[in-house]
Amino acid sequence: MNILVTGGAGYIGTHTCVALLQAGHQVVVLDNFSNSHPEALARVEQICQQRIPVYQGDVGDADLLEQIFTAHAFDGVIHFAGAKAVGESVEKPLYYYRNNVTASQTLFEAMQRFGVNTIVFSSSATVYGDPHAVPILEDFPTGPTNPYGRSKLMVEEIMQDHARADQTFNGIILRYFNPVGAHESGLIGEDPNGIPNNLMPFIAQVAVGKRAQLAVFGDDYPTKDGTGVRDYIHVCDLAEGHVKAIERLHGQAGCHVFNLGTGSGVSVLEMVAAYADASQRPVPYAIAPRRAGDVAQCYADASKAQQLLGWQAKRDLRDMVADSWHWQSGNPDGYRSSSDSE
Ligand code: NAD
Ligand code: UDP
Repeated sequence: MNILVTGGAGYIGTHTCVALLQAGHQVVVLDNFSNSHPEALARVEQICQQRIPVYQGDVGDADLLEQIFTAHAFDGVIHFAGAKAVGESVEKPLYYYRNNVTASQTLFEAMQRFGVNTIVFSSSATVYGDPHAVPILEDFPTGPTNPYGRSKLMVEEIMQDHARADQTFNGIILRYFNPVGAHESGLIGEDPNGIPNNLMPFIAQVAVGKRAQLAVFGDDYPTKDGTGVRDYIHVCDLAEGHVKAIERLHGQAGCHVFNLGTGSGVSVLEMVAAYADASQRPVPYAIAPRRAGDVAQCYADASKAQQLLGWQAKRDLRDMVADSWHWQSGNPDGYRSSSDSE
């Protein structure tokens, strides 16, 4: 298949481009590099030994989409492009709704004009808000608690409405749990700007000596050791989930929703211990107050993806931390490590 990958230079996008190319598909990337570096795509080309056509621009730019869809015959789209920081979304909700919701709508309109019916959309477990139970099933009530989560749910709802109105539309909604880790080559990985918001990249920067210690946000949750529990999933498993989803469901009209997680929960302190073990470096931490808006535990029931997509996460926590450390220790300043002028 020939697939347009929006946001293909980002963390999950690069790993998915590798998985798609290695499965024999072709990709074209559209990215505005607002949260990524062109070097990331050069690394994908290095891993796959293939050139990738890249368009630099905004997914909400209808004229650019016209140009891209005219130049290429796509079988489908995988839509990663969007902003993803919860705290920033509280400060800049209008930006989040434009960049995540309005831009997605513009993309759906371009797809409709060009008769491209299949799209895989990056949603998030955050649409479940504070779940009433774990593990979380796809039919649990939704109730995101911040503008980022609401932007994801709005796009899901647009896709559901569109699928009801247009019998040819094929929308695949993937709700990711917590993607971590990096490609086994150590050439691509997560490269956050500034201070990382997420646990794994923060721990990685403590282990490599860029930050003094981790603040553990709360040790009084009703969990196994009092710290927050999440469903961490290796980014390469997640990438392979996209390949399975588009291969299995391509052209099947309607909206299809899947959790992509491992189905098991890991606490903050378990993650700290695993990382210290893999890196053979100390990971100093201090208990801090709870972070506003955090839930105690969140992990998936991922059996629907197993049954209908034939997909299941294969990599365990040791693989996640070992691959994260391989990337982090080889690229302490992310993609900037390889471009000395920055
Ligand atoms: P990322 O920021 O690394 O990648 C997103 C990419 O999209 C970046 O390369 C960025 O430059 C690009 N982009 C952003 N807005 C754009 C626009 N308007 N036009 C063109 N390009 C644009 O993020 P990621 O972690 O790879 O996440 C990919 C998707 O998955 C996002 O939609 C995110 O919301 C979703 N998601 C991520 C996580 C996570 O923890 N990483 C969890 C659930 C869902
Ligand atoms: N966390 C933490 N310190 C940090 C970042 C995160 O203790 O510096 C905790 C957070 O409270 C949560 C878990 O790690 O329990 C995962 O947080 P992350 O932001 O990575 O994912 P999310 O909360 O969005 O699922």
